[in-house]
Amino acid sequence: MNSDIRKNLLDIENKIALTTEEAGRRLGDVKLLAVSKTYPVETIKEAYLAGQRLFGENKVQELEVKAPVLPEDIEWHLIGHLQSNKVAKAVEYAKYIHSVDSSKLIKKIDRIAEEKSKRPKIFIEVNISGEESKYGTESSQIMDLVKVALECKNLELVGLMTMAPFNADNAELSSVFAGLKKLRDSLEAKFNINMPELSMGMSSDFEIAIKEGATIVRIGTSIFGKRNYNI
Ligand SMILES: *Cc1c(COP(=O)(O)O)cnc(C)c1O
Repeated sequence: MNSDIRKNLLDIENKIALTTEEAGRRLGDVKLLAVSKTYPVETIKEAYLAGQRLFGENKVQELEVKAPVLPEDIEWHLIGHLQSNKVAKAVEYAKYIHSVDSSKLIKKIDRIAEEKSKRPKIFIEVNISGEESKYGTESSQIMDLVKVALECKNLELVGLMTMAPFNADNAELSSVFAGLKKLRDSLEAKFNINMPELSMGMSSDFEIAIKEGATIVRIGTSIFGKRNYNI
C-alpha cells in the first residue's frame, strides 16, 4: 500500500471540507472525483482501499481496460473529449459523462443507451472562457443542447462542466467558475428544470471552484502525483 495516496486523499478531503464550510455551504455538497488517467489499476486499487469510490478517466481506451478488472462499486466518470465512435464503450462503463458538447453526441448517447438499457448522467461541457483550443460548447449554443438533452429519454442531464484556461490568475478563475454557475442558474430558470451538478476545479484551482459553487471537483495530480505521459 502506497501510504502517500491514502494521505493525499485525506488531505484533499480535509481541504474540500474546510473550503466548503468557509464558503457557507453544507458539508457533503462537494464530491471528490479522483482522476486516475495514465495510472495503472494497482494504483487505483490503493485509492479504492483508502475508501475512494468516484474515479475519472479522460480516455475511453483507458476506461474500457480498467473498469472491468476493478471493483463494481466504483462509479466511473468520463471527463475527456468523447469521439462519436467511442460512445458505445463510454456508455457501457461510465455512469457519468462530463464532456458532452454537441447535439449529435447527445443523440448518439441516447440511442446507444437505449440499446444497452443504460441511463447515463451527462454534463454539458461549456467553454466559458471562450479560449479557442478548448473543447466544450460556446455559451451561445447551450440552449439548443439543453433542449435536445431534455427530449432524450435514455439519459439524464445533471449539470454543466468546464475547464478553466491554463495560466489563468485567481481573478479569472473565479470569473470562469462563477460564469458557469450563473449559466446553470439561468438554464434552470428558463427550462424550469433541476441541474444540480457543477463539475469544475482541478488540483490547482479546486478551492476557488468550491467557493464559486462546484459540486464535483476533478483531482488527479494532488492524489496520485505527477503524470508521466510517456508510459
Ligand atoms: C486530467 C484532468 C483533470 C485533473 O487534473 P489535475 O491537475 O491532475 O488535478 C481534471 N479534469 C480533466 C478534464 C482532466 O483531463
